[in-house]
Amino acid sequence: MLSYWEKKHLLNADLLIIGAGFVGLSTAIHFKRIHPKKEILVLERGGLPTGASTRNAGFACFGSLTEILDDLTNMSEAEVLDLVQRRFKGLNSIRKEFGDVGLNYLDSGGFELLNSESLDALESMDKVNEMLKPFFEENVFSLEEDLYPYGFSKDIKAVVRNKFEGELDPGKYMLNLWKKANEVGVRILTGINVQEIDGESGLAQAIDPVGRYLVFSGEQLAICTNAFSKTLVPSLGLKPGRGLILLSKPLKNQIPWEGSFHVGKGYVYFRKIDNRFLIGGGRNIAFEEEESEEFLVNAKIKDYLNTLTESTLLPETPIEWEMEWTGIMGFGQTKKPIIQKVSKRTAVAVRLGGMGVAVGWQVGKEMSDLMAQM
Ligand SMILES: Cc1cc2nc3c(=O)[nH]c(=O)nc-3n(C[C@H](O)[C@H](O)[C@H](O)COP(=O)(O)OP(=O)(O)OC[C@H]3O[C@@H](n4cnc5c(N)ncnc54)[C@H](O)[C@@H]3O)c2cc1C
Repeated sequence: MLSYWEKKHLLNADLLIIGAGFVGLSTAIHFKRIHPKKEILVLERGGLPTGASTRNAGFACFGSLTEILDDLTNMSEAEVLDLVQRRFKGLNSIRKEFGDVGLNYLDSGGFELLNSESLDALESMDKVNEMLKPFFEENVFSLEEDLYPYGFSKDIKAVVRNKFEGELDPGKYMLNLWKKANEVGVRILTGINVQEIDGESGLAQAIDPVGRYLVFSGEQLAICTNAFSKTLVPSLGLKPGRGLILLSKPLKNQIPWEGSFHVGKGYVYFRKIDNRFLIGGGRNIAFEEEESEEFLVNAKIKDYLNTLTESTLLPETPIEWEMEWTGIMGFGQTKKPIIQKVSKRTAVAVRLGGMGVAVGWQVGKEMSDLMAQM
């Protein structure tokens, strides 16, 4: 049951945004900057954002050597270069907007571990450096001379450094997005689960935490629900992809390296945070099972990450896991985000895959420009 006041003031906006992850909040902030007088209302189903933005590993990355080589098997050089540029520019734009302190950004480099199966990637390192040179103006990838200080097992035959990558803290990034949204006057309602939209009339039917049925209306609707867009816009053909992260208890000894590390075409990643060991990924050993919107832990993947840690990455260090969590990404036929109008008043900004930390802010800007032109 609604009151007259609720109905009159609280359910309407000029722009209604569904989803308060990186993309939804960036869309809101950019749109409000262009149209300070317009009312922006963001609807989020969770009490906290409940997708990928606050549940990733905090990698400020744009592609490891083997990931780029893998992309080159099904994309043109121009497309791969475009993807890398987009991610790198995206990372620079958030560093400029929020500052390195605002993101807890560490300019610590990216590293990829090669074993005997992936070692032949080194033969293509010069070629990939040449491909990226027009944009970076110097070599991106170089071979680490001395592996001993890292303490990896003998399975690791080479480590490739990417000097342009780093690490950040997704929680701090979100905190500063909230602050910015608040400063410009964006309203965010949490616990609002949108069940259905009418893109032509700008209506969004939702259920709130006490089970009330609410109908929100906007002059325009922006759908920023990434992996969870299947119900609202089925035609996009998006698929969810779950990612698992394990975090250890604080370690007795200092981990002797820093940076964002990758193994196996970027599918496994690890770093240290507060002298804890964080490892994530492994979706590639159970692709179909991980095509899920449920925040569950797949025991097979947990076991795989645990074994890799003990046998190869930290063989000398006893590890006890303290936390585990999953986040859900949105994938499709290509790695390019979809930013497009889907009906008279409605547009979507989705399919961020495993790169929304890097490009989410920029995608939101492009979405806001699109909404402003509609
Ligand atoms: C484990 C993991 C590791 C990652 N690693 C990296 C990385 O190294 N580099 C990188 O750049 N990116 C990485 N990513 C990807 C990145 O986190 C995502 O691409 C990005 O967060 C997507 O942002 P988004 O705003 O599009 O989606 P989300 O963050 O998923 O936000 C969508 C929001 O919509 C809300 N929502 C959904 N449906 C509804 C509804 N019906 N009603 C109301 N609200 C709704 C959800 O609750 C959610 O908060 C990783 C992701 C994961 C999970």
